[in-house]
Formats: sequence, C-alpha cells, structure tokens
Amino acid sequence: MAEPVFERLCLVGIGLIGSSIARVARKRGDIARTIVATTRRRETLARVRELGIVDVVEDDIGRAVEGCDGVILCVPVGAYAAVMAEIAPHLAPGCVLSDVGSTKGSVVRDLSPLVPPGVHLVPAHPMAGTEHSGPDAGFAELFEGRYCIVTPLPGSDPVAVEKVREMWRRCGSMIETLDPATHDRVVAIVSHLPHLIAFTICGTADDLAEETKEAVLKFAASGFRDFTRIAASDVDMWRDVFLNNREALLEMLARFSEDAHALGRAVRYGQAEFIEDRIRRGRKIRRELIERKQA
Ligand code: NAP
Repeated sequence: MAEPVFERLCLVGIGLIGSSIARVARKRGDIARTIVATTRRRETLARVRELGIVDVVEDDIGRAVEGCDGVILCVPVGAYAAVMAEIAPHLAPGCVLSDVGSTKGSVVRDLSPLVPPGVHLVPAHPMAGTEHSGPDAGFAELFEGRYCIVTPLPGSDPVAVEKVREMWRRCGSMIETLDPATHDRVVAIVSHLPHLIAFTICGTADDLAEETKEAVLKFAASGFRDFTRIAASDVDMWRDVFLNNREALLEMLARFSEDAHALGRAVRYGQAEFIEDRIRRGRKIRRELIERKQA
C-alpha cells in the first residue's frame, strides 16, 4: 500500500461530506494514518463514536487539530471565520489546511487573514453530494467518478497543493484546478441557481390554495418531484451558500430570468419554433452529460 497522504488528518465538522471522507479514508487506509474528528454538538460526537468511522473523536476543537499535518473544514461556509479563529492558534507549522465548502471566494476571504505563518491553505470543493446531512448520511463511494475542484492561491506551496489533489484522487475523484472567482461563477449556474429554483418552485406550490396543493402533491410524480428532492437540502448549508456566493448567484439569476421571460413570451405569442429550440437544447445537454458519465 502507498504511504498515507497525511499522518494525522483532522476533519472539522463531520456531516455528509466529512463522514464520507472518513469512510473512504478508513476503507482505503492510504489517505491518513490517523483520522481525528471534531464537531460542534455533543450528540453528533456521540453518534460518530458509535459509528466508529474515525480513530479519535475529540470534543475540544483546538486539541483536535493539534499535531495534525492535514486539517479539512467540513462545516457550512458561514461558520468558517468563527471556526478558523478557534483553530488558528493550534495549527502546527507545515500543516495543510483545506476545506470542502461550496463557495471559494468567501473561503479565501474568511480564512486567508487568519492562516498562521507556515500553514498552507489549499481550498477545494468536491462536486458530490446528496440532499441528506449528518454523519449517518455519508458513504465511502460519494466522491467516486465526480470532479473535485481545487482552488490554490497564488504562491500556494506546490507540495501542499499536490497533497490535497492526491487525497481527492484517492477518494476516487477527478481533479480540476480553477481560480476561486471562476469556480464561484461555474457553481452558481450548475448548482446554486438550480437549488434557488427548486426552493422557489416548492414555495410557489406551497402558496397555492389548500385543495390545489393537495392535487399538486397527489400528481407530483411528474417534473415537480425532481425539484422536491433538491429542495429537501440542508437549511444552514444552503443559506450560507447563497449568502456567500451572492454576486455570481445574482448574475446567473438575472440571466436566467431574462431567458425564462423570453420563453414565456414565446408561449404567449405561440412561437413554436422558439419553444422547440429551447427543448432541443435541454435534450442535447442531457445527452452530453450522459456521454460524460456525469448524469
Ligand atoms: P452537514 O451534513 O450538515 O454537516 C455539517 C457539519 O458542520 C456538522 O458536523 C455540523 O456539526 C457542523 N456545523 C454546522 N453548523 C456549524 C457551525 N455554525 N459551527 C460549527 N460547526 C457547524 O453538511 P455537509 O453536507 O457535510 O456540508 C459541509 C460542507 O460541505 C459545507 O461547507 C458545504 O457547502 C459543503 N458541500 C456540501 C455538499 C452537499 O451536497 N451536501 C457538496 C459539496 C460540498 P453538528 O452536527 O455538531 O451540529
């Protein structure tokens, strides 16, 4: 077996993503020699102990990261600044500090000023997830065949960057490198806007009169059902994503609104060709995703 990427890896936050990293690391054995987990609530700590997916469960966040050569933040992005303030004095020189957050500009903004000298910040975002949360929701195969976007900073230590890339490779991911701003624009369209639309469409349906809503739920098996799966996502995580990718999300929402109005106008004026063109584009994108095995 190859040498582990990290001697002692601490997962700060152990919900869906953190516990999936723990599970794949446990299964493979070549990601970290020792896996430490810490989180905010006692109940979660107790559950992680029961699940037996890490070597050390530590309730003191400072002690948890002490002596670690790898630390990965797996908490909602809105909690980064507070968490970083707690761990910064305890990070060992030479430690690689990474994360899994769904926004990257805000992560660089919130973490960079607090990174102690000698600690290497290498943000990353595994493009894999489900609508479930908590340590029971994770599974070792979550990252398999999915992209992980690494967003090194100018001047990031190449050895630290390679460690993060190698860790995600061993999790089964395909690695891409982007700058934080490009990352945020890309995920705004592929992930954040679809969630915004799903939350909105469910809200709109819920606003309908009681008897109509009954009918909506009864006949939900068509397109609406797929939106409800996305809309079942974690409240804290998605509030933080929206608030921390504001500019890119608002830009994509404006473009989407224009396009939706154009399609609505075509419907109003019976412009069949325009409508057909939009449907064909949707079908083409779906085919392309299937061909790339990302469907
Ligand atoms: P999750 O299952 O809800 O787990 C969140 C973890 O963070 C839990 O351990 C929770 O602790 C802790 N936490 C929550 N709020 C906190 C706070 N204010 N301060 C300190 N700790 C806090 O979430 P997740 O899906 O794993 O998401 C974690 C990160 O991964 C997020 O940054 C998210 O953007 C990113 N991400 C998510 C997905 C996805 O589809 N879910 C995909 C890619 C990336 P307690 O249980 O102790 O309260």
